[in-house]
Amino acid sequence: MDQTFTYIFTRIAPYYPEGEARALARLVLETRFGFTWVEICMGKDAPLLLEQRRELENIVEGLQRKEPVQYILGEAEFCGRRFEVAPGVLVPRPETEELVDWVIDDCKAHGVEDMHVLDIGTGSGCIAVTLACAFPHARVSAMDVSADALQIARRNALAAGRDIAFLQKDILVEAGGLDVAWDVIVSNPPYVCECEKRGMDTNVLAYEPAEALFVPDDDPLRFYRAIGKYAARTLADGGKLYVEINRAFGEETSVLFESLGLRRVTLKKDAYGNNRMIRCEK
Ligand code: SAM
Ligand code: GLN
Repeated sequence: MDQTFTYIFTRIAPYYPEGEARALARLVLETRFGFTWVEICMGKDAPLLLEQRRELENIVEGLQRKEPVQYILGEAEFCGRRFEVAPGVLVPRPETEELVDWVIDDCKAHGVEDMHVLDIGTGSGCIAVTLACAFPHARVSAMDVSADALQIARRNALAAGRDIAFLQKDILVEAGGLDVAWDVIVSNPPYVCECEKRGMDTNVLAYEPAEALFVPDDDPLRFYRAIGKYAARTLADGGKLYVEINRAFGEETSVLFESLGLRRVTLKKDAYGNNRMIRCEK
């Protein structure tokens, strides 16, 4: 393996663990320059045209500054689909794919296809768009407080050819005005405590939107209280709420949902064995 791959790898290796530097070099070559992994392995990933070399230089410098590669490339993969992303929205995470898989598996198992779905805090729209693609007869709505996020989410829905109702709303202050009897409410709200910042990477802290991630240390469940209350009021009978959670608060979040009258609260672990999502029912 050599040429452009080696060039990228050598330039970014001082900034990343070896495996990550290799994965980044591969992703850049495949996504931006259209090389296949086989071509890269055979050293057929060069020479690039002059203009592409300039582009590559900018990409390498961005990676050296620890910008998330998804922002540099303008796209991220989620559940096998490409989503436009930019600094105004969170980069979709693999644990959120697991949350969406849970919703899809449940709905398929129960033969539900034409449900009303709401995604709270839609960001790039990755959850809403994936569900709308999996269930073409579902009526999907998505809300976010951020106008920047909604703009990107709209473009992602359009690119996927799905008709999603987007709304700019603050779930903490304004849960009314959208009172459909939802069959499914799903949310990956901000849940990282301020005190957890110490262990986090520069590429998250310096580049991703803080309002998408952080909650105050003295009220880590603020979004779950608002979402739980809203769900208890607006879910159809038998309708389900699915949320991604901070692994440190599985018990507390479950108890909170029970106290709000939601039933059959189920805590589920992610692929790393951490308490990561909850399903409950009205
Ligand atoms: N759903 C996307 C995903 O899973 O990748 C984004 C999740 S991100 C963790 C949380 C999202 O909630 C952000 O897009 C943020 O703008 C939005 N958000 C933050 N505060 C909000 C509020 N008060 N009301 C509605 N949305 C909010
Ligand atoms: N899983 C994300 C992270 O660790 C956090 C997502 C969220 O706050 N909902 O960066």
